[in-house]
Amino acid sequence: MQVLLLGGTADGRRLAAALESAGIAVVTSVAGRTAQARGQADARVGGFGGVDGLVDYLRATGTDAVVDATHPFAARMTANAAEACATAGVRLLRFTRPGWADHRYAGRWRWVPDHGAAAQAAGQAPGRVLLTVGRQPLAAYRGLRDVLARVAEWQGDPVPEGMRILEARGPFGLDAELALLGDEEITMLVSKDSGGVDNAAKLEAAARLGIPVVMIARPPLPEGLQQVSSVADAVAWVGAPNR
Ligand code: NAP
Repeated sequence: MQVLLLGGTADGRRLAAALESAGIAVVTSVAGRTAQARGQADARVGGFGGVDGLVDYLRATGTDAVVDATHPFAARMTANAAEACATAGVRLLRFTRPGWADHRYAGRWRWVPDHGAAAQAAGQAPGRVLLTVGRQPLAAYRGLRDVLARVAEWQGDPVPEGMRILEARGPFGLDAELALLGDEEITMLVSKDSGGVDNAAKLEAAARLGIPVVMIARPPLPEGLQQVSSVADAVAWVGAPNR
């Protein structure tokens, strides 16, 4: 059986290891250059060239199943995978960690649909904003007066005015998050609904310090896409071709 795992996430690495332990060989595909640094030296690296490129890849490699374990906010790859698998007649599973909609503080947060709305909400409040949305969307926050943007990796791009960059890769513990929010005198936290536990300590820290949170909701999934959030369910799906 030929299985393609669209990765680029810690969840994807966990699933690849579990599939291998179950005797199922997978090709993991990642988008970018950090693959080797993140312990994925054997990954297939780089985009497929849109939907058509992915269809060609699936056909050329005789892929039987695709597991999309990309980040919940990697909406383009998820949409492309849905379209390409439908075209090529390949079964597809979305594997993603549960979001924070059921988090015990979720009712206190201001939920917004996208980065534009998050920037607007942040612009209405005085003080210093901690942005934890990754590197790519930072342009949407241009114009805010006082922003600390925490990113896993900064690649020397010009830093927008009013913004400082903090390069740090999680997971972060509660003590570290409390210290960062306190030392930096943060008055608002902006986060994506990435979900999971690895990055959740900031939410507990913000609650303890009474810091308001703006939470960007996940982009909607393509219609009809089958989704699981546990490694065991994903391994079972891969191993049972008729599911
Ligand atoms: P995106 O906007 O959905 O994808 C942009 C393009 O990157 C895709 O159209 C595809 O290019 C290529 N691509 C994305 N994931 C790929 C994969 N696993 N293998 C091969 N090509 C891939 O994605 P993004 O938000 O830029 O994220 C890029 C990668 O970083 C994803 O794999 C994601 O899992 C990971 N990541 C994203 C975030 C986030 O917050 N967005 C956070 C952590 C990790 P083609 O159209 O040429 O095929």
